Amino acid sequence: MAHVWRGIIREYLDRLPFTEEDRIISLGEGGTPLVHAPSISQEVGADVYVKVEGMNPTGSFKDRGMTSAITQVVKDGDHTVVCASTGNTSASAAAYAAHAGLQCVVMIPQGKIAAGKMAQAIVHGARLVQVDGNFDECLDIVRSLSEDYPVALVNSVNPYRLQGQKTAAFEIVDQLGDAPDIHMLPVGNAGNISAYWMGFAEARDAGGATRTPRIWGVQAAGAAPFVAGHPIKDPETVATAIRIGKPASWDLAIAARDESGGWIRAVEDAAILAAQARLAADVGVFVEPASAAPIAGLLAAAAQGEVPQGATITCTVTGNGLKDTATALAGHEVEPTVIPVDVAAAAKVLGL
Ligand SMILES: *Cc1c(COP(=O)(O)O)cnc(C)c1O
Repeated sequence: MAHVWRGIIREYLDRLPFTEEDRIISLGEGGTPLVHAPSISQEVGADVYVKVEGMNPTGSFKDRGMTSAITQVVKDGDHTVVCASTGNTSASAAAYAAHAGLQCVVMIPQGKIAAGKMAQAIVHGARLVQVDGNFDECLDIVRSLSEDYPVALVNSVNPYRLQGQKTAAFEIVDQLGDAPDIHMLPVGNAGNISAYWMGFAEARDAGGATRTPRIWGVQAAGAAPFVAGHPIKDPETVATAIRIGKPASWDLAIAARDESGGWIRAVEDAAILAAQARLAADVGVFVEPASAAPIAGLLAAAAQGEVPQGATITCTVTGNGLKDTATALAGHEVEPTVIPVDVAAAAKVLGL
């Protein structure tokens, strides 16, 4: 019988804080592909897969957390949601709020979000406020707003966000038949690394997985508070989705790193962009810069001989490359050859 994916809440209802009676706000998120990466596998001497979270309805993993956060907002009877965002949270919040019939307010750092993400917030009808500050400062504002005014906060400090996001770990266990040896992902505000660790631990406890993976987190060198061991004041990186200096889920991320026997490292922007190009050219998956950070981190670890040979390694590639085409094309000459409407001319220009 054909199986139609019903979104993460209905698919994993027994492992989430909701029931059949709840009005579930879903756009069919989750059920994303786990794609094998043969050339990267060969280079690092392990079996490498990418979990393609850019396939979610608004093009990033944020939708997993947003379906559960917005479902809870509706349950609580609130009418307005608010978030700070480097772009993808606002895109997702705007879409799910629109679907639920809620108002959405987003605070974004001025000039520091990709055009595609901005477009999403606008077309879904969010009230957009640009702040002359960075993401961390935007988050401070919306946290205070939600304490003093009747607006519900849907950033990942909202525990329902992590509940939804943990389902990506369940899916990986379902797709591989067990947990991987190592799971890698980019780390920004650190909600996702915390959610994956919760998900893998729950999958082991429930018996679906025989073990938990080591968690290897990757930050951008200019925005690497976990590597520094303290918050960073003026984070800077081309990977705007992880341009965060004061991660909200600090303690949970440290626990994920240490309890799993993993690490959190940093990679330079140039390595991130090279990994983005490599994923597009070798694997056929176009991701945004932040999503390529784990691949850059994996290649760096392999170059230092730190990748256990023959290991199974899964990497979350968090967002869709179409959100930020300007950065992806920055290093390319885009000058198409123009020919007349003529087969011989087409053959000639192709060297056939
Ligand atoms: C939000 C986001 C991240 C960072 O996730 P955190 O949970 O904040 O650590 C990474 N990549 C993309 C594409 C994102 O949208």
